[in-house]
Amino acid sequence: MRILVVGGAGYVGSTTVERLVADGHDVTVYDDLSSGHRASVVEGAALVIGDIADQGHLERVLTDGGIDSVLHCAAKSLVGESMVEPGLYYRNNVAGGVALLEAMRAAGVNRIVFSSTAAVYGEPRRVPIAEADRTEPINPYGATKLAFEGAMRWFCAAHGFRAISLRYFNVAGATERNGEDHDPETHLIPLVLRVAAGEASHVQIFGQDYPTPDGTCIRDYLHVTDMAEAHLLGLEATGEGDPSLEVYNLGSAAGFSVREVIEAVRKVTGRAVPARAVKRRMGDPPVLVASSRRARRELGWQPHHSKLEEMVADAWAWKLEHPQGYATGPRPGAKAAIDAPDRVAAGAGG
Ligand code: UDP
Repeated sequence: MRILVVGGAGYVGSTTVERLVADGHDVTVYDDLSSGHRASVVEGAALVIGDIADQGHLERVLTDGGIDSVLHCAAKSLVGESMVEPGLYYRNNVAGGVALLEAMRAAGVNRIVFSSTAAVYGEPRRVPIAEADRTEPINPYGATKLAFEGAMRWFCAAHGFRAISLRYFNVAGATERNGEDHDPETHLIPLVLRVAAGEASHVQIFGQDYPTPDGTCIRDYLHVTDMAEAHLLGLEATGEGDPSLEVYNLGSAAGFSVREVIEAVRKVTGRAVPARAVKRRMGDPPVLVASSRRARRELGWQPHHSKLEEMVADAWAWKLEHPQGYATGPRPGAKAAIDAPDRVAAGAGG
């Protein structure tokens, strides 16, 4: 496949690009590097720096690159920020997404996989959550992802698109090359690892009076390489069939509590991890776990790294190798292009 990965310099995007390139696909990354990292783009993929709202630019990149399918991983994704800056989320995640769809339509590209979120469900009435369950997001982040799914659905009906939306919760772990590097960091596992590394004095536990066995929130965690595989399977599945939007949840079937995560970090790192319970974080449901039965059945997806300790160990190994994250500078030999993708040959550039 000749794939455009929009948001391909982010955590999930870059790891998926790594996998796609390893599998011999022709990959172009389109990213504004607002939160992604140039150094995360693997050798062998082209990097085009551009704005998702720039429909004309996207159309040129799609046409010039002979692209046949799109993976859309570009989104503003901080729940807290979305609550105070909803306009930013509607502009980027909805208006920007529609610019991408319009560019695809103009370029004659009709296959898309969207990296969505299980935040579209809001507070679930039951767990594990299934695809047909009620979608009632409780923050602009989830609302804008759901709105974009709606746009995709209508592009399928009107313009013959074949689309897949992957809804998931927490992603963890790393490959040897790529890992999690957010600024600001708000996610539990990297924050706990910072404490283990001595970069912070303690981890805050947001609430310990939830109706769960140990009183802390339970979340679904998926290894980032299993996510990469799901995205690849999704892209392959858009190659045939009638125009439609198909929705798949991705989950690990088992959730882990905040305390279990902290315990896993203590065990894996052998370091002390002081923790203090503080008050609940706004908008946190007690348990969020998604059922991935449909993805397993129809996409043939099978997570291989569901053990919490494995995810933590991989994230820890990456952190030890990259104490400053990607801040060690751009990948040697990498050049970004504005209009003409700069394809860096595999192995070249170090
Ligand atoms: N959490 C916590 N302390 C932190 C960060 C997160 O107790 O410093 C909790 C949070 O309340 C949630 C879980 O850890 O129950 C996972 O949060 P995260 O922000 O990593 O992902 P989310 O589930 O919100 O997507």
